[in-house]
Amino acid sequence: MTTSRRDLLTGALTAAAGAALAPDPAGAQARDHEHDHDHEHDHQVAPSDPALRVKALESLMVAKGLVDPAALDALIDTYEHQVGPRRGAQVVARAWVDHAFRERLLTDATSAVAELGFGGDTLRVVENTAAIHNLIVCTLCSCYPWSMLGLPPVWYKSSAYRSRTVIDPRGVLREFGVELGDDVEVRVWDSTADLRYLVLPERPAGTQHLTEESLAALVTRDAMVGVAKVAVPRPGAHA
Ligand code: FE
Repeated sequence: MTTSRRDLLTGALTAAAGAALAPDPAGAQARDHEHDHDHEHDHQVAPSDPALRVKALESLMVAKGLVDPAALDALIDTYEHQVGPRRGAQVVARAWVDHAFRERLLTDATSAVAELGFGGDTLRVVENTAAIHNLIVCTLCSCYPWSMLGLPPVWYKSSAYRSRTVIDPRGVLREFGVELGDDVEVRVWDSTADLRYLVLPERPAGTQHLTEESLAALVTRDAMVGVAKVAVPRPGAHA
């Protein structure tokens, strides 16, 4: 809900202030623990530095009357829950079933996605094939096709991903579980605020019988960033 993000950050700020004032070995241990794994359970720990900075900036802008907190919450809700990665998945599925649309998408993605009612970013779509694998990064900061994929994942914004993707893209892909043969060319695209990229993944074999809607359900955010392939659904498995 709209109040939870603000309340959580406020609570976390209070906890952080307390942690800063008092020696807290247990808290420090918990914070170390937070960085050692990625499974989900409740942590009573301070938020990250970026979260604190965002909260401080937001508080200042609200206090000065520069932004409306309700408008901020509505914006975040839109990208978290309504855009999600689903717009991108619809675009990919359409390209898989409609050859003419695919051609338009690869030639002028911004105009092609507008045909589906989507807009907001100047977009270029790059196509994965048996011979070429595309991978998206923003080496400068975290430029990302928000209008297609919603909020970027944390790893996309990490300095490790941003630097290693250009130095060792095959190594990064391997860590994401994508093994490419030596005969596959890897192309890394550096997004900017002016031009965002989206990967058109390969359509998996054995999906000829699927509807456009069912195909869209197979397409993941990671596949459209290029760190995954679209998986072939197992016989009998639910999509
Ligand atoms: Fe950026």
